[in-house]
Amino acid sequence: MNMPVVLISEEEIQSRVLELAGQISADYDANDELVLVGVLKGSFIFLADLSRRLTIPRTIEFIAVSSYGSGSRSTGAVRLVMDVRGNIEGKHVLIVEDIVDTGHTLKYLIGMLESHRPASVRTCALVRKAESAEVDVKVDYLGFDIGNEWVVGYGLDYAEQNRTLPYIGVVSPDD
Ligand code: 5GP
Repeated sequence: MNMPVVLISEEEIQSRVLELAGQISADYDANDELVLVGVLKGSFIFLADLSRRLTIPRTIEFIAVSSYGSGSRSTGAVRLVMDVRGNIEGKHVLIVEDIVDTGHTLKYLIGMLESHRPASVRTCALVRKAESAEVDVKVDYLGFDIGNEWVVGYGLDYAEQNRTLPYIGVVSPDD
């Protein structure tokens, strides 16, 4: 497989993560019980970096979903594979996603987490494919908008490969 072509460099990612962490730290009160909910598997590196840059108290939970249907695009039918373990009732939830494509996954997650009766639910995504949106879902904290191409690295995979690259790159499916 050829090496992915760099789309967003390690330096760009790190400085944007620092900015996002600053914004989030300023928006929440230090007394708020902030719970970062990382969406497995793709968000694990973003969540690790973002959470360590925050200057306010926070706890970490994970959630896992999968999409019905074949192929790489989600069909809109999302299935919960693993729910949060801790009690998030009355707490401030920030969903940390790797990438928003059609928006179905994030929309599902917001509804799912709201059913746990948290104090608030906001969303943070490192990357969004703006042209691919099929549902209207608000990303409160966004790293980068990109075009409609398959990206890997910084947690994102192609057939489980390239997740640990320090940058975000583009692979063509033929590689
Ligand atoms: P959505 O429900 O917004 O269409 O899809 C979101 C999910 O699709 C992401 O969490 C991710 O798992 C997957 N996805 C969409 N586009 C890409 C991409 O370019 N690269 C990777 N690795 N995953 C993607």
